[in-house]
Amino acid sequence: MQNGIGRMGWLVLLVASVGVSQCAAQDVAQKSVAGAPPKLDRFEASMLDKSISPCVDFYAYSCSKWQAAHPIPSDMSSVGTWTPLYLWNQTILREALEKAAETPDAKGTEQQVGDFWKSCMNVDERAAKGMQWLAEALKPVDAIKDKKELAGVLAQLHGGIAPAFEGDDNQTSAPMFGFGPTQDLIDSSKVVAGFDQGGLSLASRDYYLNEDEASKKLREDYRKHLVRMFGLAGDGAERAATEAAAVMEIESALAKAQMNGVDRRDPVKTYHKQSLAQIQAALPDFDMAEYLKLSGSPVPPFYIVATLDFFPALDEQIKTRSLDELKSYLRWWTIKSAANKTTPELEQANFDFFGTTLRGVPKMLPQWRRCVGSADAHLGEALGQEYVKIAFPPESKAKALELTNGLREALKQDIGEVDWMTAATKKQAVEKLDAMIEKIGYPDKWRDYSSVKIVPDNYLANVVSANVFEVHRELNKINRPVDKQEWMMTPPTINAYNDMQNNSINFPAGILQLPYFSPTQSDAENYGSMGATIGHEMTHGFDDQGRKFDAKGDLRDWWTEADAKAYEERGACLAAEYTHPVPELGPGVKTDGKRTQGEDTADNGGIHLAMMALENLYKARGKSLDTPEEDGLTARQRFYASYAFSWCESARPDQERMQITTDPHSLNRYRVNTVLSNQAGFAKAFGCKAGQPMVAEPACRVW
Ligand SMILES: [Zn+2]
Repeated sequence: MQNGIGRMGWLVLLVASVGVSQCAAQDVAQKSVAGAPPKLDRFEASMLDKSISPCVDFYAYSCSKWQAAHPIPSDMSSVGTWTPLYLWNQTILREALEKAAETPDAKGTEQQVGDFWKSCMNVDERAAKGMQWLAEALKPVDAIKDKKELAGVLAQLHGGIAPAFEGDDNQTSAPMFGFGPTQDLIDSSKVVAGFDQGGLSLASRDYYLNEDEASKKLREDYRKHLVRMFGLAGDGAERAATEAAAVMEIESALAKAQMNGVDRRDPVKTYHKQSLAQIQAALPDFDMAEYLKLSGSPVPPFYIVATLDFFPALDEQIKTRSLDELKSYLRWWTIKSAANKTTPELEQANFDFFGTTLRGVPKMLPQWRRCVGSADAHLGEALGQEYVKIAFPPESKAKALELTNGLREALKQDIGEVDWMTAATKKQAVEKLDAMIEKIGYPDKWRDYSSVKIVPDNYLANVVSANVFEVHRELNKINRPVDKQEWMMTPPTINAYNDMQNNSINFPAGILQLPYFSPTQSDAENYGSMGATIGHEMTHGFDDQGRKFDAKGDLRDWWTEADAKAYEERGACLAAEYTHPVPELGPGVKTDGKRTQGEDTADNGGIHLAMMALENLYKARGKSLDTPEEDGLTARQRFYASYAFSWCESARPDQERMQITTDPHSLNRYRVNTVLSNQAGFAKAFGCKAGQPMVAEPACRVW
């Protein structure tokens, strides 16, 4: 169970799920200009818009000039202050990949990343071999004669092209259901196996169920897209239309049976210990024993089923649908999963729907960026070693550790000072904080990819080979002790996360860069941006979900009844504050503060703790935060302005509408304005008075 900062989750998704090819000529042209890495952005007081009052709209005060200077590139769904860093990271990775590809007789990981890069960049070869691969992959689906055989074909898909454990907070993005290792919620030291809802191609159940006109149109566009994709895979028009109808019906039925995002935030609601016999009883028309045998999964003492209602509904589909309909569904998932790795036509078609229609992005990223993203996704810890050598010197790690210690002290102080918590609960909270593991930059022990076969001329085979390795690596965790040192993000990732079941906070080297962090930035800037992120991840350990886990990462209620009630009242204040219409995105579009409660709690706590840490630092030095410096800003003002700057963004409306239904994070403008309007320190920094928009009444606060 993880919760992240969400700086660029969407970009990651976009690179991973949409994609192939413009023409090769464009990539050659891009190559010659890609030489020098782009300049990294950093906070400057001159970027503040003095024509706007900071007490009326701090986001506009901090970001409007930046936004005006940074239109959204045609191949992106949004642009933010993370974008120059993303481009910089990609250039570093590209150089490492090219160097490896050009090394004669390269061995080990160098051979792997170099040949992976070559295979991805060679459009002609990947088209020819990819279509051969797809034709072969569809054969076992087409050959199914009896529903009993579905288990074998699904195990194969889950084990290769469509891994079963990939997904997000709302669903597993794999055909039919998700299956993989999971830590037991009650005893987090045990890794057992878990089943989860899945089976949808669109980002959440809402896309299938909402009845507004925009959603209906989107479903019609999706149906057309299905027809087009079946056609590109070689099916005739009539067959493609029949297949598309079957996929729509099956996915819509599964969407109906899925648990919604708010309920899924409650760990108790997604924890159901079951035996294989119980699971089989819920799904009598699917041979689960055969599926598990073929998946190669070790046999755990029990299984955890996240969503009980989903499996009987899946069974109903298997039972009542014709064999041809079920085969169409599996054909679709095979085609979709391979689409980005085959012909330019299939990749373009995939992008036209998942990129343009769903997110409003006009154009695909150039091929080389997609290939960098793919290498990071499939061989991330091999490539990450090169990134760290260039981008994350020991000084950065030492300074980041200093920041983390400052935040840790601040949270301890905060727990001590809050007036709504009894001493007994405070003691347990401090124990949990003391036990929290921090991981900074990159893993101590790198993943061993030696068994992954990578060839220079078959991209799809390489991706499948990396997926097979990853699926086995995951399944082999079952029945073994948890490796608390493992990372869920690769080193160049511009993001961070809290792993509640391991009680750890994790900051990849990718986010420990400008504009968020640098050993050469002022403390006010580092604390306002990276410090707030570190505080955000720490606070997740004590948000509405995280507070239910103890120091070991076990789901255990360590709160007195009165303290839990006091906590929930505070959480409810935030949930209400973050529930409101967003008229600029259309009539009826509304945020749901219950869905984003964990992230909002972390945002509010994070900035509060970062300010406490900065105050402690200044106090120890005998310095004031309120003395104007050379550019006219006080350190206290610089802290909040750097925080806001780290969230400056422009996003396409389709992207924001999607974010509101699928992302547990609030939109960036609220991550600045709503958060800061709750902070007394902010009002003090800019002299804001009660009644002004940037002063919330009441001010909500948990931490
Ligand atoms: Zn978060």
